[in-house]
Parts: sequence; structure tokens; C-alpha cells
Amino acid sequence: MILQIAIPKPVYTHFDYLPPPGIEMSRLQPGIRLRVPFGKNQSDIGILLAIAENSAIASHKLKFAEVILDNTPILPPDILQLLQWASDYYHHPIGEVISTALPTLLNQGHPAIIQTMQGWKLTASGQEQLASLAKTAHRQQAVLQLLQEHPHGLSHVTLSNSLSNIVPVLRTLEKKNWITPHLVEPTHLVKAVQSISLPLPLNAAQTQAVNRVCQHLNRFYPCLLDGVTGSGKTEVYLQIIQQVLNQNRQALVLIPEINLTPQMVNRFQQRFSVPLAIFHSKLTPHERLQAWLLAKEGIAPIVIGTRSAVWTPLARPGLFIVDEEHDPAYKQQDGFRYSARDMAVVRAQRAQVPILLGSATPSLDSLYNAQQQRYQHLILPERAGTAVHPRFQVVDMRPQSRQSLSWQLVQAITLRLAKQQQVLLFINRRGYAPTLMCYHCGWVAYCQHCDAPLTYHQTNQNLCCHYCGATRLRDTRCPDCHQEQLFLLGQGTQRIEEQLQQQFSQARILRIDSDSTRGKNAMHTLLEHIHGGEVDILVGTQMLAKGHHFPKVTLVGVINIDSGLYNADFRAPERMAQLLVQVAGRAGRAEEPGEVIIQTYHPDHPLLNCLIREGYPAFAQVALQERQLAQFPPYTRLALLRAEANQVELPLQFLQAAKEQALQLTAQEVQLWGPVPAPMARRAGWYRAQLLLQSTQREVLHRLLSQWLPCLASLAGRKVRWSLDIDPQEL
Ligand code: ADP
Ligand code: ZN
Ligand code: ZN
Repeated sequence: MILQIAIPKPVYTHFDYLPPPGIEMSRLQPGIRLRVPFGKNQSDIGILLAIAENSAIASHKLKFAEVILDNTPILPPDILQLLQWASDYYHHPIGEVISTALPTLLNQGHPAIIQTMQGWKLTASGQEQLASLAKTAHRQQAVLQLLQEHPHGLSHVTLSNSLSNIVPVLRTLEKKNWITPHLVEPTHLVKAVQSISLPLPLNAAQTQAVNRVCQHLNRFYPCLLDGVTGSGKTEVYLQIIQQVLNQNRQALVLIPEINLTPQMVNRFQQRFSVPLAIFHSKLTPHERLQAWLLAKEGIAPIVIGTRSAVWTPLARPGLFIVDEEHDPAYKQQDGFRYSARDMAVVRAQRAQVPILLGSATPSLDSLYNAQQQRYQHLILPERAGTAVHPRFQVVDMRPQSRQSLSWQLVQAITLRLAKQQQVLLFINRRGYAPTLMCYHCGWVAYCQHCDAPLTYHQTNQNLCCHYCGATRLRDTRCPDCHQEQLFLLGQGTQRIEEQLQQQFSQARILRIDSDSTRGKNAMHTLLEHIHGGEVDILVGTQMLAKGHHFPKVTLVGVINIDSGLYNADFRAPERMAQLLVQVAGRAGRAEEPGEVIIQTYHPDHPLLNCLIREGYPAFAQVALQERQLAQFPPYTRLALLRAEANQVELPLQFLQAAKEQALQLTAQEVQLWGPVPAPMARRAGWYRAQLLLQSTQREVLHRLLSQWLPCLASLAGRKVRWSLDIDPQEL
């Protein structure tokens, strides 16, 4: 009997071992972890994939697995099969796929045990007292009430989060024998029991969306929930989830960013008084494991997390939701390069449950799937409240090219400030200025390790590379011609902030970018200032475009849209449009109509104009037609082979050899483009190049990849690092 075991190594197959001597065979279930010897005197932790009769390895060479770490599988069969499917689809080693999907502590061999916490439970006499308790003892009553609503008990932590200074109250209640100590599940993952928000009466479009999904709760029902910001998508999620909970099933909700969007999580916490397993990046590894186990055991009916949460096992899956499904954050960009959105769809299909892909700006891929009737297209056409759509104005920057803030924008800001309304300015670059240049000889400060100019940061007077992180002092004279006149070119958030301070000296200005939000609670504090009305002008990067509700903002200015209009990546216009609509969506959420001012040097750009005049759906149609003409996804399938090395010629040589190999393996159905240097040909000291594979037929492409991959390792040799990116998001 042979154990087929996945170990996190860059190897495409499993490893074969003999069962640990003397082990009971019934304990050998797929999905358990084993410690196995590996290499010379080392050991590793692997996952049992399957048990086979034979091995391709000679029997005298097979080693015994050392020890079994789990009594029951940590990966249930559905997840194990999904991971194997993903390993095939992405052509990525199964051991690495599994280790990406598991919490770190499990990879390290930590036991998979749910830990209980000290808590409290209502006694029978407490139950009786609840009705007759005098109204004056309202704090006691509040505790009893909470415990009655939670028959499995509440942890001490949760109770003290819910009511202040609770210890004396608990002591009194315990003395009266109305409550009793009780061990409960780790409720540090379950936030305070908050005032519960009631479901809102739905409008017609919301009602239809909820009904359609709820009529199909027991089968695969993929839906694109397409609704402008504020049209009530989240309310639709919440009400469908309620039905799923009524069926005693679980819902898994993916969001692109968790720390920037506390409001989203709050709404779930306020609606449902059930344990939520929330995967946010501030969890300790231990808390992360606990959240994962709560989901796996079905104790947490609702699971919320970012990309990697898509792999969380669920005891009773009932619904998948991918919010802001267009967001590039769903694609992992290194190691195992999977798309969490796509995997969620695959998972829903395998589990035979509905999946909701929600967005105000759906990806062209999903819109295409809706057009092909692979997805239900549920549209929420209007804003749920009374707010109206913002007005757009395009400002031609050519006549005022020396300015970063056009007079139109300045005028509009002045007006809004006079009305004591908030203004949001969006710029896609942090730092002060993206380029330091010598006007005499044209020298530009470049990163030593990357093909990228250095960004000047005013706060520490440093030049900083945004790609490799290298930092150095700003030059005071040109190293080439020794002139002292060096100029800072272009705009970053810090520079716009400085200009605003000069121009609107009375205004309270707040900058939001990854520099200003670095601290532990920095973002939270900044958001509180904004919502408290302590801010007049907000300046920020795309961080600001992600899901925040800023009801007091009535004017949005986009400092420069142009990098999205002209870019080598075929997805750039789609991203530009999504960003623009998303930032615009921050404006005018309450009674006051919003206004959006877009500064550009290309005011006649057809896609930009289509977007502004006719809206995102019309833009998407035109953009899809362009994709079809150019034979780009979703009309074709892509795979990108990337390579990098310390010597400039090696990646191209490797890719050329790989290409010739592929040409021998394939007929005409797969096109090969390149090899070419990567858009940033040198990064952190590595020279980079890429080869693009394209086909109209997925199967043909994948058949080629399966045959081709085994050849690549030997072609690459030791000096070239390479990786394959299936359905690449960035070219
Ligand atoms: P989205 O997720 O599409 O941005 P939300 O669900 O956050 O939209 O709704 C936007 C705002 O409208 C929220 O303040 C929400 O409470 C409110 N809202 C949503 N649905 C309704 C409704 N049916 N009636 C009244 N208000 C609603
Ligand atoms: Zn010079
Ligand atoms: Zn660099």
C-alpha cells in the first residue's frame, strides 16, 4: 500500500511513501497531515492525497512516513478535490497549492483544535427571573437578555465588549445563581453583540434579485449583481444570506480589501447575531487558525475574508459572494497565481449552490459571461436612497499645462468649501513627485535596481523606488553635468496636499495613501475624522475608491486620468473606467447631487467620452468589441510565461528555447507572442522577459501546457527563475 502525499515543493506530482509502521489503516484518510522524511535527514509535513496499490518508484527506495498528525482530515474531500482541480488548471505544484490554502500554523504542524474560552450561560432560574426582574436592574436584565439570545453561552470577552464595566454585574448574577460559568467557542472572532439592524424594505429591483436567487438556493446559480454604488447590493447580500442561514447553511463572502472597508464588515455584524469568522490581516496566526476551524466545523455560519479565504472549508456551504468582483486584488500575483473570483465560481458549481458576483463596474469577463447567458444578469438600476447620479465634467489641461489643479477645479473646490461640503481629490501616485530631473542635460534619477524613476518623498526628503523599496537621499546637483538646477516633475499626493494648503489655507486637508495609513489603527482614525466632519478636503490614491461611503463628499476631482488611457496593457482602459466610476461613486450619496471633474490632456479620447456620456454599460460594450477585434480575453485564453535572471540575455534565451519547444508540440491553434522584455525590463536587479500564449480554445492551450511544462525546468537551468501565469491580469 502506497501513500500519495503532497509536500510543498516545486514539483508537479505527489510523493510516494509507505504507511508509518504499525498504523491502523482506518486512520489513513485523504486530507490528513503526516510528517515524512525528506531529503537528507530532514522531515516535512505533507497532506495525504490518496492511497494507491503501486508506485513508479522501486520499492526498496520507498521510505516510511513517520507519523500521522490528524485523526480526522483537516481538508475535507470537496476542498481537497478543488485544490487538485486548481493545481491542474493553473499548472501549479499540488503541494504548493495546498500550502497556500492552509493557515500557516497548520502548514507548520500545529494541532487543528478549536479552543474554548471562559464564558457565561443562563441557568434555569435565570431564565425564570428574566420575566419578573424589576425594570430598575436594567444592566442585569441586559446580560440575562443577551445570554437568553445565545443559548450556547457568550464569552467573557464578548460580554465585556457589549456592556461597559460588566464584571460586578456578572458577579452579582452568579451569586444569585442566575448565570453560570461556561466554556464557549473562541468568540474573540465574534465581535460584540451590537444593536441589530433590521432588514430594509426592498425596492422592486432588489426584491427581484433576492427572489431569483432564493428560488435557486439548491443548485448552481451564478449571478452577476450589477448595480451602481449605493444601489443596495449589500442589502441584497444580507437578505439572501438570511435565507441561507434559515436553511442552516453557511455563506462565504469575499471582499477585495478588509482593513480599508470596516464598514462592510460592520454591516454584517449589525445584521446577524451569529458567529462570524472574519479573516482580516491583523489576526494572529492563532486567531486565523481558529477562524478557519470555526468555518470548517460549521460553527461560524458567515465567513468573510479576502482572496485566500476562498479556500476556507465549510461544513454546509450554501452561498458564495464575491463583492467588487472586478477588483484586481482577487488575483494572486506571485507563487500560486490563482483568481479567487474564478475559484469561487468553480467552488459554487461543485457545491451546487448560488454565487453572487457583485459590482458597480463588472469586469468585462463577467459581463461577457452574462451576455453568453452563463450568468444571470441581475441589475439594480438606481440608487436605493434618494441620491442622484453625479455630473461629470472633463477639463482639457492642454491650455493650462503648468497647473496641476485647473481653474475649473479650484473654482469648484472654493464653492464646495463655502457650502461646508467635503471634497475628494484622487491621484494615482503617492509621494511628492514621481520624477527628479535635470533641465540642462535631461538626466533623471533612476532606481539602481529597476527600470523605473525614483519618487521624491517630501516627508523624509528621500528618493524612493516604489517597485523594490530602495531609498536614498535626494541629489542636490546633477551627477552628469553637475548643474544644481534639478526639478521635481509631476504630481504625487504629498505635492497636491501642499498646493492645496497654499491655495486653501483655511481648509482642513487630509491625505490618505499607503504612507499616511501605515500605523496599526491609522486608517480607522482617519476615517473617523472624515465621518466626524473634521475634514474639508481629502487627497488620496485608489485606496479611497474602495468601498468607502463618504456621505458629505459632493465634489470629486480626478487630477490626471491619462495613464489609464494610454498603456501597453489591454486591460488598462477597463481599469481606468472602473476606477473612475468607483471614485465618482463616492460623491453625492446623500441629498446633495455630486459633481466629478476629470482633468486630462486627451479630452477627445473616445473610450473616455463614451464612458462619461453614456455610462459604464455602454463603455463596456465598446471595450468588449475592441477586445473581440484584437482577439483578447474574454474571446481568447491567455497564458504568460515569465522569466527573470541576473544576466540580461538569459531570460530571452530561455524563452526563445521554450518557444521553439512549444512550436514542436503544437499545431496552429496556439499563438505564441514574443519573447519580449517585460514592461519593466529590470526590477530589483533582475532582468525580466515574457512569452505570451494565446488560443481561442482553452482545452488546446491547456493540453499544450501540460506537455510543455515538464520540458521547461531543464531548459531554464539554474540561473533562470520562471513562472507560468494562467489568465494573467497584467501583461
Ligand atoms: P451598494 O452595496 O450597492 O453600494 P448598499 O447596500 O450599501 O449599496 O446601499 C446603499 C445605501 O442605501 C445604504 O445606506 C443602505 O442602507 C441604503 N439602502 C439599501 N437598500 C435600501 C432600501 N431598499 N431602502 C432604503 N435604503 C436602502
Ligand atoms: Zn544634468
Ligand atoms: Zn527599484
